[in-house]
Amino acid sequence: MQGEQPKPNVLLEDEALRDGLQIESQIFSIDQKIELFSLLKNAGVRRIQVGSFVHPKIVPQMAATDELIRELSKQENTVISALILNDKGLERALACGVPHVSMSVSVSNTHSLKNARRSAADALGGMVDLIKHARSRGLEVRAGLQSAFGCVYEGPIAESAVLEAADKMVSAGITEINLADSTGMADPYMIRSLVSQVSRRYPEVRISLHLHDTRGLGLANMFSGYEAGVRIFDVCVGGLGGCPFIKGAAGNVPTEDAVHMFESMGIATGIDLNRVISAVDFLENALQRSLPGRMKRVVSAQQVCNR
Ligand SMILES: [Zn+2]
Repeated sequence: MQGEQPKPNVLLEDEALRDGLQIESQIFSIDQKIELFSLLKNAGVRRIQVGSFVHPKIVPQMAATDELIRELSKQENTVISALILNDKGLERALACGVPHVSMSVSVSNTHSLKNARRSAADALGGMVDLIKHARSRGLEVRAGLQSAFGCVYEGPIAESAVLEAADKMVSAGITEINLADSTGMADPYMIRSLVSQVSRRYPEVRISLHLHDTRGLGLANMFSGYEAGVRIFDVCVGGLGGCPFIKGAAGNVPTEDAVHMFESMGIATGIDLNRVISAVDFLENALQRSLPGRMKRVVSAQQVCNR
């Protein structure tokens, strides 16, 4: 349309290799992870969270994150990111040369005690120290708040609690704040309200959203976030994922469905839909089950019709 302003692009960070795979009992080899990474990168995904630095006994799927990052070392146009939880993880991240790290704690005390075995206040204090350590070592840090839109154990989470925690993280030097709807309890109005407050409070900090699609509101929440000014969204190819501490949790918004939504509205993601679907194929073959994303079925059906 003539005179129409170009719409701002979005960055989709695929987390299937971390948030998706971490609850799978089938352990993926380094080669399988590299293949999935390559499929995502070749589809145009520009930031990929490839794993976490946790104790291998706690999350065996993430045991070889260091080795994976070393193997992937030279990547152009795609930022490799990893999740760290403590100083030991930070040292491992620095040793293998990952350029971007994420951290996250829960705003809900009960969720924090179950997931991290620490109170929310204690976990936040630990993360603030960790942010400072990582910044002093030259890393770009994204830090997030889980259950920022509600908790299955505690119910609604006050926006003031989120903002109080965010103040401490921002003062410690983060460049991006990740608001996570770990439980899928957010709705589009809640997203708009919290994002507006966070962006007014810290205009210099980028906001990203991590939206689990547990109640089917993932895309609606994503669009609401975009309308409120968010330009970075976490996604999981195929919609892989869940959470062992949140009953019935679904994965993040499927990458391919987010690509379809944004691209159909003229908002560039840089990701090729057909190519990203080959990553869904790869995962479904490896796991021997269908994943919840919609667009693979749509694109496959169109290919049949076009024959
Ligand atoms: Zn998640």
